[in-house]
Amino acid sequence: MAQATTTSRVAVVTGGASGIGEASCRHLAAAGHRIAVLDLDAERAAAVADDLRTQGVAALAVGVDVSDRTAVDAAFDKVRADLGPVGILVTSAGLMAFDTFEDITPERWQRVLDVNLTGTFHCCQAAVGDMTSAGWGRIITISSSSAQRGSPNCAHYAAAKGGVIVLTKSLARIYAPLGITVNTIPPSGIETPMQHRSQREGRLPDNDAMARAIPIGHLGTPDDIAAAVAYLSSEGAGFVTGQVLGVNGGAVL
Ligand code: NAP
Repeated sequence: MAQATTTSRVAVVTGGASGIGEASCRHLAAAGHRIAVLDLDAERAAAVADDLRTQGVAALAVGVDVSDRTAVDAAFDKVRADLGPVGILVTSAGLMAFDTFEDITPERWQRVLDVNLTGTFHCCQAAVGDMTSAGWGRIITISSSSAQRGSPNCAHYAAAKGGVIVLTKSLARIYAPLGITVNTIPPSGIETPMQHRSQREGRLPDNDAMARAIPIGHLGTPDDIAAAVAYLSSEGAGFVTGQVLGVNGGAVL
């Protein structure tokens, strides 16, 4: 039986300073990859990269707003200069927003789309040149179960994440012949700082109530998502592309 080999790649993780992104950085580092932690919060990104370096991992932190194309291009240039060409991209940077539909101002709508959807577009475009040159690449976008089910209190966020799902499928079709796979993970009920913030603001129910809505009976962890990220970015997942891999305890079937 042919064995899949693990080659050390450069992995860029947006939103890498917290939650799902941070766990993805750690799982990809454990798989032997060099890690670029991109995040709005430059200080927390630096702390994650410093910690990885103490474990012997080549890691770099860049503070960047993914909705700013000039800043994204500069960040990827720095990654290339310091770590090498990008082989793996995980787009976990996201802006959660709760507003009743009538209260969504055009400015709010635009910001939520800019971060969640356009930010994903910017990063995919910034990464894909290296991948096509190498004839190998893995892109994993982080979408949301809200886009699979619809969401009454966050139509802007759900629409943006729906866009991420369809962008993912389109990129999968474009780049499949070039050795690049593109898949999306729509999380649901994962305990992260984002979820805790939403609970503190009274936008989400407490953990017990959330767990009751999940067939497996408990919330997920960032590691649950990161394990799927590690699989989708592996050599062994080379025949998997354009897929929506729900990691949600059965909340969406
Ligand atoms: P998190 O812990 O808040 O992590 C998200 C990270 O992205 C934070 O460090 C955040 O920085 C950063 N970020 C926000 N806006 C950014 C921007 N414009 N540019 C660069 N970085 C930015 O949240 P998480 O729960 O891990 O979420 C990760 C992804 O999963 C998000 O895309 C989210 O929409 C999605 N998701 C999560 C769940 C869940 O159950 N947790 C469910 C569905 C979807 P700041 O803290 O400074 O804003």
